[in-house]
Amino acid sequence: MKKILITGGAGFIGSHLCERLLNEGNEVICLDNFFTGSKNNIIHLLDNPFFELIRHDVTMPYFIEVDEIYNLACPASPIHYQYNPIKTIKTSVMGAINMLGLAKRIKAKILQASTSEVYGDPTIHPQKEDYWGNCNPIGFRSCYDEGKRCAESLFINYHQQNNVNIKIARIFNTYGSKMSINDGRVVSNFIVQALKGDDITIYGSGKQTRSFQYVSDLIEGLIRLMNSDKSFIGPVNIGNPHEFNMLELANSIIELTDSKSKISYLPLPEDDPVQRQPDISLAKKVLNGWEPKVELKQGLINTIEYFKSII
Ligand code: NAD
Ligand code: UDP
Repeated sequence: MKKILITGGAGFIGSHLCERLLNEGNEVICLDNFFTGSKNNIIHLLDNPFFELIRHDVTMPYFIEVDEIYNLACPASPIHYQYNPIKTIKTSVMGAINMLGLAKRIKAKILQASTSEVYGDPTIHPQKEDYWGNCNPIGFRSCYDEGKRCAESLFINYHQQNNVNIKIARIFNTYGSKMSINDGRVVSNFIVQALKGDDITIYGSGKQTRSFQYVSDLIEGLIRLMNSDKSFIGPVNIGNPHEFNMLELANSIIELTDSKSKISYLPLPEDDPVQRQPDISLAKKVLNGWEPKVELKQGLINTIEYFKSII
């Protein structure tokens, strides 16, 4: 049995990770400030004596003895991370410093939830880990992109300078149950709109692409990365390479929900990346043959069932 700290554990991805690691017989400490996370995501775990919930903000130091840390704390949806951009940067940068300092002190292994956003609006397609990215350092997305890029730098430097045992995952667009109704990201927005019969809001022409990964595939990838050989630190892309444009996504969701919703077009947010697709050859090689198993249609069906149950 390992003792595992998950920052951002009450969020969408964090709550799935808490559940899976508890089910595997570990002791799990979930730390969250509930900015975008919710107690509802982990309420069913509260009776488990091997689960602890701590209300804390990662921008402040926190001390605990654990074997592993998954550092997920950070709002991930553009509307939420742009709500208080300075706080978003503090969460990524000071959160990383605090958690790396803890890992160094207690000799814990630490995994950073980094993001495909470090590639910005990519000029290389699909994106490989050795691509340095195309980010606007002063744009609306920079609080998130540059915060995450700085966190990666901190991770590498704590590893090189202080021998901290690190892992960096670059996560591509992930969706599934436990996303908040108000999350604001595209899959949950479209599903909620379709189920309510509201207009489906496409930003821009709808020709921009993303590659959507179902949450169970991500969780498997993150755990394999944490358990990978000590010499492998990443960064490694974890995503599903099947790429779709937003119009295709909207039409699939309308069809699967049998919705009467119409599509409406809204302005494209500033610096919205035109295309995004992970090259996952490194992940397949170093994560024991890991690859995504859940295709978009099945993942959407599961996610639609979830939103039907909470709306
Ligand atoms: P989410 O918003 O559902 O979860 C983030 C969690 O972090 C929430 O529970 C929130 O309350 C908590 N949090 C935020 N600021 C905090 C702070 N200062 N102190 C403590 N807790 C704080 O988002 P998610 O999709 O579950 O994302 C989890 C992580 O994965 C994030 O770091 C995100 O950047 C990364 N990621 C997610 C995706 C994706 O598509 N879902 C893609 C790339 C990277
Ligand atoms: N998007 C959209 N309608 C929405 C929400 C998002 O068309 O209601 C678009 C958004 O402009 C982007 C894509 O969907 O091009 C993915 O957006 P999301 O916020 O999910 O993730 P990110 O842009 O961070 O990849």
